[in-house]
Amino acid sequence: MKHPGFTTRAVHGPLTGKDPNHALQFPIYAGVAHDFETAETMADTFAGRKAAFAYSRIANPTVSAFERKITALEDGLGTVAVSSGMAAISNTLLNLLTEGDTLVAASSLFGGTYSLFINVFQPLGINVKFVSITDLDGLDAAIDENTRVLFLETISNPCTTIPDFERISEIASRHHVVVVADSTATTPYLFPARRFGVNIVIHSTTKYISGGATSMGGAIVDLGNFDWSFVPALKKYHRYKEMAFLARLRKEVYQETGSCLSPYDAYLQSLGLETLALRMEQICKNAQAVAEFLEAQNVVTTVFYPGLPSSQSQELAKKQLNGKCGGILAFGLSDRTACFRFLDKLSLIKRASNLGDNKTLALHPASTIFAGLNTDEQKTLGIDDTLIRLSIGIEDADDIIADIRQALGES
Ligand SMILES: *Cc1c(COP(=O)(O)O)cnc(C)c1O
Repeated sequence: MKHPGFTTRAVHGPLTGKDPNHALQFPIYAGVAHDFETAETMADTFAGRKAAFAYSRIANPTVSAFERKITALEDGLGTVAVSSGMAAISNTLLNLLTEGDTLVAASSLFGGTYSLFINVFQPLGINVKFVSITDLDGLDAAIDENTRVLFLETISNPCTTIPDFERISEIASRHHVVVVADSTATTPYLFPARRFGVNIVIHSTTKYISGGATSMGGAIVDLGNFDWSFVPALKKYHRYKEMAFLARLRKEVYQETGSCLSPYDAYLQSLGLETLALRMEQICKNAQAVAEFLEAQNVVTTVFYPGLPSSQSQELAKKQLNGKCGGILAFGLSDRTACFRFLDKLSLIKRASNLGDNKTLALHPASTIFAGLNTDEQKTLGIDDTLIRLSIGIEDADDIIADIRQALGES
């Protein structure tokens, strides 16, 4: 088969690395260590002359099988799967940045990511600058001679703004800056990262990829389109050429920070990945129907969803996301009391802080995931007390809408 489609790749994975017993679902290798035939092969493995499994924190067969599937779906050079989305972000930046470097990041970020940059990377001597993803001149101006990384998300959460990746990656490439995109909200099914000039794509596989919120995980994919000789943090590895990023990530950062994904979770996520396209189709269709329903309600003051003509991101969704708009949407009610009343009246829809579950979830961002930020910080992210976020699931759209209708108090 020359160019297998997305779900064929998600179900079958690449043809290398089959299970020796021909199990159709790659088995869980739960143990910690692997035996070596001879001292010589053991020495060769530790010296990197031979590829073999030695110790599960360094590499594990079940985790590797999951990584090969992700690489195939992203059309990448290689993947390192890690214990969570946050581990994916921290490992990537520990691999690319060194004291005195500048990190330029989108001002609208997942709360944990924002906090990681401010509370962990800044004290380590990384200069962190936040920019608006819609102000491209400001973004260009923020890049200084020490800037190594531009970090952004494919759809901002909860206000669903989409960056223009073609224009942004053109600016970054002119300055030899690595574009790192967090594609958690879009997954490889909606966002073909490589085609839009992204260099490193990361995922919280906890969300849509796991399928049904079964387990925590993350993935870091090198898309094979950056000249690593421009990154001082990879200096010792420049001789590895195009493999420099993955080589240092594996040999130093991943292995020494102990960020490994559990083989049980790799198994669950590999299974979840098989139905990613089917679930995303249903989720996007549902989200569109919910967004249109909400926009028609008098008590709803605003709706943020890229599939609506009122969204400033509609054109970019068409271009970058295969014409689909994802499963996250946000909408406004009159005040905090109205939001809490709405949340308390929900019955099918669950009050929970996850994204990408098969079940539809709702929360009040200002008092939960962004509660650690002050009002000004919330305002720059477009958040206030009147906003509700929904993560749309795979239920039947009519049932999701019926629950929202009764919770809004409209018949
Ligand atoms: C959830 C999330 C993360 C963090 O992922 P975990 O698996 O919870 O560590 C990072 N980025 C985005 C966009 C997320 O939604």
